[in-house]
Parts: sequence; structure tokens; C-alpha cells
Amino acid sequence: MKTLITGGTVVNATGTAQADVLLDGDTIAAVLAPGSTLLGFDVAGNVDEVVDATGKYVIPGGIDAHTHMEMPFGGTFASDTFETGTRAAAHGGTTSIIDFVVQYAGENILDQYQLWHEKAAGNCAIDYGFHQILSDVQDSSLTAMDELINEGVTSFKLFMAYKGVFLSDDGQIVKAMQKGAQNGALMMMHAENGSVIDLLVQQHIARGETTPFYHGVSRPWQAEEEATHRAIMLANLTGAPLYIVHVSAKEALAQITQARDTGQNVFAETCPQYLYLSLEDQLGASSAEWGDFEGAKWVCSTPLRSKHEGHQHHMWQGLRTNDLQVISTDHCPFCMKGQKDMGLGDFSKIPNGIGSVEHRMDLIYQGVVMGEITLPRWVELTSTTPARMFGVYGKKGVIQPGADADVVIYDPNGHTSIGIGEGRTHHMNMDYSAWEGYEIDGHVDTVFSRGRKIVDDNTYLGRKGDGAYFKRGLSQYLI
Ligand SMILES: [Zn+2]
Repeated sequence: MKTLITGGTVVNATGTAQADVLLDGDTIAAVLAPGSTLLGFDVAGNVDEVVDATGKYVIPGGIDAHTHMEMPFGGTFASDTFETGTRAAAHGGTTSIIDFVVQYAGENILDQYQLWHEKAAGNCAIDYGFHQILSDVQDSSLTAMDELINEGVTSFKLFMAYKGVFLSDDGQIVKAMQKGAQNGALMMMHAENGSVIDLLVQQHIARGETTPFYHGVSRPWQAEEEATHRAIMLANLTGAPLYIVHVSAKEALAQITQARDTGQNVFAETCPQYLYLSLEDQLGASSAEWGDFEGAKWVCSTPLRSKHEGHQHHMWQGLRTNDLQVISTDHCPFCMKGQKDMGLGDFSKIPNGIGSVEHRMDLIYQGVVMGEITLPRWVELTSTTPARMFGVYGKKGVIQPGADADVVIYDPNGHTSIGIGEGRTHHMNMDYSAWEGYEIDGHVDTVFSRGRKIVDDNTYLGRKGDGAYFKRGLSQYLI
């Protein structure tokens, strides 16, 4: 199958150009001067399909480097399976995800890694890779890290929160980081002080402060800043490269900025919810159906921050200054009925997570519309840097000859209404949208995954199992 995309503006992280793009089988065969002739050869006349992208952007498919499909959490599972979640991602112009293999204390990480392959294989609409979670950092886990690197799992996530579930103590963290310093793995960190949070949660519940709003209040920015600083110091001690996930507090960002300024290999991501949503939105949320439990829709960790403290502004700023390099979603969806409602009367029982894998490209494009970031920076934050950070750049994250033909045609003059309401867009397996009523300037018109047209004009044309596992190399930001 040969496809020629004509008349569009190709947007890479390095800039924009008017160009035609030739897809041949799985890969991008050529990026051509407009007009589709090459040394007199009529390219357009020799392909199976010509797609007119006049007036539109032609971008590398989005890479969401932080998802949790069907993740077991709090007595339930994230409501998107690999099938439903990756199909929703495809609708939104994301053509790759990197999902987290979960390991709870006592479990064997290689067994878990196999289990994640079984869950994903044959079900995905788009290509996928894995990170590995390390919770109790067993000696066998350290050995397994070397094996997993050979399997293409080159990043490992630790938690400073969720005692008894995921939390690693500082000694365990150092042990894992020493291994990362040795074998080149990127160490990822959920940076919140879990002991402090557990205490505050108990105190709020004891005072009868049980509504979803108190979820955020019990996870203050100080707990994020402190843990971020500690993670940076432990990485500094061991020489391991560090990647902080879902940064939401400006004080945590300042710690990251400072570490980067001293030359330490510290990287970080933020997520759409920390750019647009606030603690006050959660406090004010109410509905006939749920009353003040409505706020459970936005319970995630790290939590939404107060809009009066300027966190959102600082997140956008960090994205411009490159102190934040990646935007992921931390896609971890739960339904209100039967899942989030386990926390009625006790916010600590609400499963933590927001579903956004479908909307990241649209939501971050609004940063271009609002003048917060440039067009190439949009592509860099959502595709190119995730590719480089996690060792797949060249194949993914760029429109260039030889790259996988993961290509999105994005119409800046189109419009997208997000939500489950009539005429709106929502394909994730959730009974609500955290983004209900968001009106987007722009529209994902057509999505190619390795040369196959899987979404066109809001219609899904792919099949489950189209997506393949990709092995990743070490982070391409490290020497
Ligand atoms: Zn996460």
C-alpha cells in the first residue's frame, strides 16, 4: 500500500515546511517538495491513494508515555482495556503508548511483564511499549532489570507514596537507582511524601472532611516538593538518570529546574489536567446525580492544584523553557458508577485517576491557539521528545524517510467538542468525561499507524491487534 499525502504543512519538532509525504508499507518513504514529482517522475500517479491535506498540518503521531490500561488499583481495574484505550487514543491522534507493567510487593516482575504482554497482545489499535514498576525492589528485581532492558523495557518507575501498595523506602530506591546508574535505565519517580499524605488523610477523615475535595487538600504541594527534592538527591547520590512523572506543583518544578541548571540528568513531564483544571473546579463541582461527590471525577494523584497559587502558569512556562520536556496523560480511567463511588463518604477510597488518552493532542494544541507554545513545540512535547526520552526516536516521533508511517493529519480550522453529550467526542470506556464541554479549535482528521489508515473523519477503520509491541533502546538524551 502506497499513500501520498499532498498539500499539507509538515510539522516536526525542528520546524514546519510545505511538503508531500509518501508512505510505502509500514514506513515513510519520502518527504517531497510540493507537487509530487521527483526528477520528472509522477509520484501521485503511482500510488494507491492520494490524500489531500491542503490547509492542514501533517504531524508525527502522538506518543503518550504514561498510561495505565486495565491497571489493578484499589480493589478494581482501570476501566479501559488495551483494546478500548488504544482505540480511543487512535481517535485522538495518538499512535503509540507506553504503559506501566504493575508489580505489587511480593510479585515477581518478570511474571508481571509476561502478564502485561498477554493483556496487550492482539488487542491494541496502535503500537505500544512498556515501563516496569518496581515496588519492593527485590534482589531478583535488580537482576531482572538487566533482562528487561534486553526486552526493550528501559525505564523503571518507583513510588514515594502509597505505603503497602507501591511505596519503596529510600533504601530500596537507592538500590534500584544504583542499578539504573550501572545499566543506563531511566529511573522514573512518583514524587509525593506518602507518610505525610497518609497522616493528613486520616486526620481529614477523622474530622468528617470526607468529600473528594479533601483528596487534594491532603496531598499538599509541600509533599510533592519535598519528595521531588529527595528523589533528585538520591539520583544525584547514585548517578542515575531521573524522570519525574506528573509534575503539578510549581515548587516541585523549581526543584527540577535547579537540578537541571547544575547539569544533573533530571527530566520531567506534566499532564493536561495540571494545565487546565484546578482544585477549585473540584471544590465547586456538584450535580443532581452526585451532589458534592461530583468532584470524584477529578480525583488523581498528584492532585489538581489551587488556581490561586499560579501552578498552571508555571507549568506552561516550564514547557517553554524546557524544564518540562514531555506531556503525558497518566491515563487511568475509572467510571463513577461502581468504581469512583466506592469512595462515597470516604475520599480515600476513590480510585485515583483521570482518563485523557484520547484528548491530549487536542488539549495541548490549545496551547498553540492560546500562544503558550509554538506549533513545533506542540509536536516536540507530545511526540518527538517522548520518542527520544524513551528510546524510539527515528522510528517514532518524526516525519522523515525511514520512520514508521505513524502520521496524523490535523485540521487547525476544524472543531472538536469533547464529552459524552450528543455530538461530542468520547471513545474511552468511562461513564463520564473529565473534559466534558471542552471546545477545541482543531480536529484530528486522519490517522495512519504504520501506513494503515486507522481513523478517518471520526470513523475507526482499524482492527484490534493492528498495534505491535515495540522494543525500546536506552534514553537518547543520555550519553
Ligand atoms: Zn501513573
